[in-house]
Amino acid sequence: MKFYSTNNTDLRVGFKEAVFNSMPQDKGLYMPVEIPRLDDKFLSHLDEYTLPEIAYHVAQNLLGDDIPADDLKGIIHDAINFYAPVVKLEENVYVLELFHGPSLAFKDFGARFMSRVMSYFLEEGEKQLDVLVATSGDTGGAVALGFLGVPNTRVTILYPKGKVSQIQELQLTTNGQNIRALEIDGTFDDCQALVKQAFTDKELNEKFRLTSANSINIARLIPQTFYYFNAYAQLLREGISKVVFAVPSGNFGNIGAGLLAWKMGLPVEQFIAATNANDTVPAFLKTGVYQPKPSVATLSNAMDVGNPSNWVRIADLFKEKPEALKKLIVGYTYNDEETLQSIEAISKTYDYVACPHTAIAWKALKAYQQEHPAKDTAGVFLSTAHPCKFPDVFTKEISDKINIPEQVKELEKKAHHATSLDTSFEGFKEFLLKNA
Ligand SMILES: *Cc1c(COP(=O)(O)O)cnc(C)c1O
Repeated sequence: MKFYSTNNTDLRVGFKEAVFNSMPQDKGLYMPVEIPRLDDKFLSHLDEYTLPEIAYHVAQNLLGDDIPADDLKGIIHDAINFYAPVVKLEENVYVLELFHGPSLAFKDFGARFMSRVMSYFLEEGEKQLDVLVATSGDTGGAVALGFLGVPNTRVTILYPKGKVSQIQELQLTTNGQNIRALEIDGTFDDCQALVKQAFTDKELNEKFRLTSANSINIARLIPQTFYYFNAYAQLLREGISKVVFAVPSGNFGNIGAGLLAWKMGLPVEQFIAATNANDTVPAFLKTGVYQPKPSVATLSNAMDVGNPSNWVRIADLFKEKPEALKKLIVGYTYNDEETLQSIEAISKTYDYVACPHTAIAWKALKAYQQEHPAKDTAGVFLSTAHPCKFPDVFTKEISDKINIPEQVKELEKKAHHATSLDTSFEGFKEFLLKNA
């Protein structure tokens, strides 16, 4: 498969180049030149396949012969080694739990697949890959655990001091091996600015083979389509064939992957984009005016994005039929108070604990279902992270209900290490050069 840039549809690069560049020089995003429609036989018999089988079929159709069949199978079995169950909460309300991977967030799908693809393309004798990543919490953990022990790679994570939860911090700082954590005395934006400057620094680029692992990488998007197909497979097994998905959205990579799955033939009635107060997309869907704005801080901080980077991909998918986009996606937006009320309501109604991001998607789904009652259509909201990653938002009563996963208990026993730095670029550069 070849990829073009959303800013230059004549551009053609292979998968390997698209993965290592992350972003084309023209600052667009890579998109597949052709989006194959999966055959009807596969789609109507999805219920007969396992998640890795579905993942392989989808990836193989998208990538063609960029990676030979057996190698691709190996990558998928290694990367997608956890499950993504659809759990019924009430009639026509299901939660798709995407937090059963090593970092307990859906970003494990993208990070694990990308790390293995990168490692695969690093031929023998090639220079070690240095991944620089700024995180507000979940990205860093998924990337760290995704690349942990992957040969010929090293990861440097920058996170804002005091602004990630305790479990997130442990996921960043207890790895050792090829993972280094830098605690920056500043904000997430400061971390991101340091990483961006490193990519433009001549000396660093001569010395190191730098790459970013952020969510615009096409190798993170592709594996996120797998769980939409797999969710549909699980519903088919219950005799359900009509579905709407509610997706808690920040950078719009997750819902973008859903739309890509739809374009490949997955029959989805409706996508619901659920955001916190950062409502650029819901506002656009309502008014037709796309107006990015500075992000505001909320309780669902992994979605605090005022200018969603993946939106250009979604616009590109619908460039021939912009009106279809406004039909297929509907937006809902909720503030922190409504988020807390939703967490409370989910706990009371189902005896289930949802993280703040997930709670917003539930609320949007319920609102949509109220406005569009349909007995034969299942509503599925995506749960993007395990609630134990965000302990500060819950009341004691709800906290007590959370089952702490075994892997978190293990983390607490491990030694942790981070190097403290301020926000100066000189200090960051010196660290990289001295610890080559
Ligand atoms: C990253 C993240 C999101 C937002 O996903 P996008 O793909 O950026 O829209 C939502 N919830 C959680 C828990 C996340 O970590």
